[in-house]
Amino acid sequence: MTSQQTLPICIAGTWRQGGGERYATCYPATGEPVAWLNAASLDDVEAAVQGAHQAFLHSGWAQRKPHERATVLYRIAGLIRERAEELAHLQRQDNGKPINETRALVASAAGTFQFFAAACETLEETITPSRGDFISMSVYEPMGVVAAITPWNSPIASEAQKVAPALAAGNAVVIKPAEITPLLALQLARICDDAGLPKGLVSVLPGKGSLLGDALTRHPLVKRVSFTGGTRTGKHIAHIAADKMMPVSLELGGKSPTIVLDDADLDHAVAGVLYGIFSSSGEACIAGSRLFVARALYEPFMARLTAAAAQLRLGDPADERTQMGPLISAAHRESVERYVALGLAEGGRLRLGGERPQGGLFDQGYFYPPTILEGLGNQQQVCQEEIFGPVLVAMPFDDEAELIEQANDSLYALAAGIWTRDYKRAWNLGRRLQAGTVWVNTYKQFSISTPFGGWRDSGLGREKGRLGILQYMEQKSLYWGMNEQPLAWAGVEAGQ
Ligand code: NDP
Repeated sequence: MTSQQTLPICIAGTWRQGGGERYATCYPATGEPVAWLNAASLDDVEAAVQGAHQAFLHSGWAQRKPHERATVLYRIAGLIRERAEELAHLQRQDNGKPINETRALVASAAGTFQFFAAACETLEETITPSRGDFISMSVYEPMGVVAAITPWNSPIASEAQKVAPALAAGNAVVIKPAEITPLLALQLARICDDAGLPKGLVSVLPGKGSLLGDALTRHPLVKRVSFTGGTRTGKHIAHIAADKMMPVSLELGGKSPTIVLDDADLDHAVAGVLYGIFSSSGEACIAGSRLFVARALYEPFMARLTAAAAQLRLGDPADERTQMGPLISAAHRESVERYVALGLAEGGRLRLGGERPQGGLFDQGYFYPPTILEGLGNQQQVCQEEIFGPVLVAMPFDDEAELIEQANDSLYALAAGIWTRDYKRAWNLGRRLQAGTVWVNTYKQFSISTPFGGWRDSGLGREKGRLGILQYMEQKSLYWGMNEQPLAWAGVEAGQ
């Protein structure tokens, strides 16, 4: 992209300049600007929500038959696929992820629209067992204006996961992307326009969350917030929602344990643990950042893991062979570095990494290498707080009771991984681990058909899955009287 031209933003069906301050987004691999735009202002929030409300009431979208709405969503999926390469490169520039990863995210966004188109046109309303002289039914209605607030780490996939089911359900959506990664949400709004979605149903508000996201959440016409981001922000949104009696779904942080039992297939375990923590440079809510290894296996396993981690290709996100790109920003890299310093101050030892790489692109972008700390206990701060970077803390364990206690000893409970050849052990352990997702002999695999979300400080509610569409609908019960006589209580006889 890289042009000084100020990008328009999409408010209530119109592409125009935002009313807030002009700023540039930057490419984390070089620190250079990618695009300039004016942030949205509070007036833009008002215009977007009012426009969405009007579009919800008057565009006829909510009244269209489900298969008609699905047709538009299928077209959106098709356009994402047609523009996949362009979108993948834009997302690479937006947040610095390697091109192969951004291609996968774009493909997943297309799949999400396709999936919720299908969910929409196959959603069944039910006739419930009648317990009186009536027919009783359970049906679903759209809610109105939904807010989708997303973080910077996987923009197009996060946005699709909210926008697709919300639109499928018949709602209007106002997207608040992360201030630093607004470009894919804007492209998604373009694609919605091009697919023939009625104007005003999707708006995008780039800019600061503490201002725009907060105002959006508080707006009386916003009937639901779907949020992905940090736990502190999620709790703030939950408080506002409580006052409004508004449902929310919150996909928050994690500090997920991966567990290598003494009978694990080591080739699979090494590959899975590496992928779990170092892919996306660890900037993933589900990163397997706490590693528990059976003591008997600890040294040989760590030797293999460390050797393999040292071979990971850190570098230019545009290079097809790159496995790890830069971190999102200079400030975020400093935060990761502070955690590594804290781990060392807490008595930890560096098994790998821990220092900025140097030379060439490394001197321009916000790169940080795969880093492994050991010699720490689960209670220490680096094991309890989310680092959101390529930092793994490895710990040996002696028995399964102690292991489960430690694995579950976290404010977070988003995901967990188990590596073992014994499926009975995996079953018993998997059922006792407290987490929204448990992977057995695999890690960080996702399917739009399977619900996703966290327990405790990792979130509330679930996205994805066929029934994910119901998050964006209100349930309604309908009773159809079938009695021949007037209701008995009033004592009115038929024909009187
Ligand atoms: P934040 O919570 O800071 O930001 C997430 C979004 O919320 C951004 O759009 C942000 O805007 C906005 N926001 C910030 N303050 C407010 C507010 N007061 N009211 C409403 N919206 C607000 O998270 P990060 O950007 O730091 O993202 C990383 C976090 O996201 C990590 O903790 C990670 O675990 C979590 N995450 C969770 C996932 C999950 O599915 N569970 C997936 C991916 C990430 P802005 O950035 O413009 O200020």
